[in-house]
Amino acid sequence: MTAAQPRVAIVGTGVIGAMAAWRLAARGARVLAFDAYGRGHDRGASAGESRIFRTVYKEGASYVPLLLKARELWRTLETDSGRALLTLCGGLTLGAPDEPDVAAVRRCAEDAGLPHEILDRAQSAARFPQHRLDEGEIAVHDPGAGVLRPEPAVQAALEAAEEHGARILSYHPVDDVTERAGGWRITALGETHDVDHVVLSPGPWAARFAPTAALPVQAQLITACWFAARDVAAHRPDRLPIAIRRHPEAGFSCFPVLDGVAVKIVPHHLGWPPIDGPENLPRGADPGFARAASAAVARLLPGLVPDPVRIGTYAEGFTPDGHPAVGPLPGAPGATVLTGFSGHGFKLAPVFGQIAADLALTGETAYDLTALDPHRFTTT
Ligand SMILES: Cc1cc2nc3c(=O)[nH]c(=O)nc-3n(C[C@H](O)[C@H](O)[C@H](O)COP(=O)(O)OP(=O)(O)OC[C@H]3O[C@@H](n4cnc5c(N)ncnc54)[C@H](O)[C@@H]3O)c2cc1C
Repeated sequence: MTAAQPRVAIVGTGVIGAMAAWRLAARGARVLAFDAYGRGHDRGASAGESRIFRTVYKEGASYVPLLLKARELWRTLETDSGRALLTLCGGLTLGAPDEPDVAAVRRCAEDAGLPHEILDRAQSAARFPQHRLDEGEIAVHDPGAGVLRPEPAVQAALEAAEEHGARILSYHPVDDVTERAGGWRITALGETHDVDHVVLSPGPWAARFAPTAALPVQAQLITACWFAARDVAAHRPDRLPIAIRRHPEAGFSCFPVLDGVAVKIVPHHLGWPPIDGPENLPRGADPGFARAASAAVARLLPGLVPDPVRIGTYAEGFTPDGHPAVGPLPGAPGATVLTGFSGHGFKLAPVFGQIAADLALTGETAYDLTALDPHRFTTT
């Protein structure tokens, strides 16, 4: 290390901060990464066994270059860490052809020229009998989709950062971040740390963290339920793609068996209610939620026992427009903020880590961040 190498502090080592630490340290920065909890903890947004990766992206074609770079970086991290993080098991979007999400996925695949297949009800039943389709419903199959492993991914990124000299300070809640001549002072556990740049990645804690509290990031509760598979082999990733199900009675994302027992369902139709900060995350779901999730499974996933064997609660930060805030912090352009990923951040995390490193080290990035600029939420 030389004195010329910039010192960069990162506040929050969920998947976004962990990836920022990896990309910054790999480029020679002296990284100091703080988190109030341990690596890969389950109180925020970056835990829960599985995450969807997809490149046919209904949220907007502008994300496609980011997704392609993210996929490349996921593979780099796998090689560097020796861990399996992304399994390209394919992905299904299931529902009526005129259902808005089903139509949008199909349009996105066609517009971007991405490989995909449209399966009618009979074709879907032959290939993916795990899903029950109603008359007239279709499946859009995306062979480029897959499942990510969140806890190993956060571990891998932080270990890779450490190999490049980063210091990871778990159980170090940051109390204060103040601008000083030519840099920033971070206060944690009563100690101060002076750095040249700061990356703020507090996830759903953004509203509780003074430097990011002005951004409209609402913490919301997302509940996941695991249902035992009657035939486990038929529900593993080699036979069951990830899926997004749209149906008049239910909507959910569906993940293949990774724990040897159960398929994970994240109900969408039951809502992701606001919570008063991740500290107030409930431990479990209320019985009404569990019954409604069970009813959806009984109706649409005949190979599962429709009683959840496990329920997990997580917090995510949502912005009013559903896109994250990524870029210079309003009012303090020397700091970089990345928060409010609104349920979509995991798959993109490596490229956002790269962007954090670009902004911290050079003040600019080749990626077009116009739609994600945090200033869109400021009134002045
Ligand atoms: C249940 C669920 C399912 C999801 N499914 C998908 C999916 O399938 N595909 C997908 O791409 N995305 C998905 N997402 C979204 C994705 O997981 C998130 O966007 C992503 O994990 C956000 O990561 P983060 O680092 O911003 O937040 P977090 O992981 O919450 O990290 C923020 C960190 O900041 C720390 N922190 C906060 N304040 C301080 C402080 N003052 N001092 C020190 N540390 C602090 C916290 O302890 C925390 O570790 C899902 C999210 C949830 C919750």
